[in-house]
Amino acid sequence: YQVKKNGKGHYRFYNDKDQLYSKKLMLEKELSQALYRNELMLHYQPQIDAQQGCVIGVEALIRWEHATLGMIMPGEFIPIAEETGLMLSIGEWVLQEACQQAKQWQDEGHMIKIGINLSAQQFEQESFVGTVARILKQTGVDPTYIDLEITESIAMTHISNVITKLKALKKLGVSISIDDFGTGYSSLAYLENFPVDKLKIAREFTSRIGSSQANHMIISSIVNLARSLNMNVIAEGVEKPEQASLLQQIRCHEMQGYLFSKPVSAEELGKLLGMPPFAVDFKGKLKVTGI
Ligand code: C2E
Ligand code: MG
Ligand code: MG
Ligand code: MG
Repeated sequence: YQVKKNGKGHYRFYNDKDQLYSKKLMLEKELSQALYRNELMLHYQPQIDAQQGCVIGVEALIRWEHATLGMIMPGEFIPIAEETGLMLSIGEWVLQEACQQAKQWQDEGHMIKIGINLSAQQFEQESFVGTVARILKQTGVDPTYIDLEITESIAMTHISNVITKLKALKKLGVSISIDDFGTGYSSLAYLENFPVDKLKIAREFTSRIGSSQANHMIISSIVNLARSLNMNVIAEGVEKPEQASLLQQIRCHEMQGYLFSKPVSAEELGKLLGMPPFAVDFKGKLKVTGI
């Protein structure tokens, strides 16, 4: 493909025969080849224990490194993958790759949890539980460290099927998180019957910490809700020391965000694991060292 800029500063895409493509059509075509061209990779963002300051887990986040277009983020290509049906094979690749990486870290003595995002289509597949079982077995990873992230919208469709599936997954030894908790159009009723291990407080809430008393009440209510249901709770999108500090005070278990680290390659993450924990200062100000 050739990328050409027209007079108005817009990009246009041409194939070898100089035919104009829409960007979407182009990405669609390229994405269908991304898997066997080995252009997909996972980055890993650390998850920090709020009290100890150490890395206790990571979230696997997919990236597409295209030969000429550069790095393409999931927000841009996952919707296309879902539309074209490619998400099923991509999702399976993610599971395989993340479990393999987790196994490698486990063999090196790094017992950290790996969060893996699931797409709705992937989760809804009849064969999904079987696929997870097969990959766990093939990679030999300890499943206690595998954490599958589902969204509230996955949780809310065909509730009885979802519960059956989640229970089957839990039997395999993995744990389940609700991603972007609080942003979906869901009722809290499902939490009563779902075998969920962790709530991930959406970035939308974290970023507004300090903005209002209402925000404070919402976040502390989510933390208390999780704690009283014996669930873990992690805040996503922690960018500022003040946010981390408040999350510590209200006894949120874990934190994840740019304050600690952006998502990084497996190799770079390996280096972070050997470093001392973040210094955590309980007296209001949080000093970030280490990473
Ligand atoms: P998510 O699962 O909620 O992941 C968190 C997103 O927030 C990531 O964006 C991460 O890079 C970003 N983030 C983390 N900390 C901060 C922060 O402090 N500030 C800000 N502004 N952003 C932060 P990313 O990697 O672009 O992924 C976006 C979404 O794409 C993910 O949201 C997830 O829904 C989806 N996704 C990513 N990888 C996969 C995958 O392998 N499979 C599926 N099905 N979905 C994926
Ligand atoms: Mg996620
Ligand atoms: Mg999230
Ligand atoms: Mg999300």
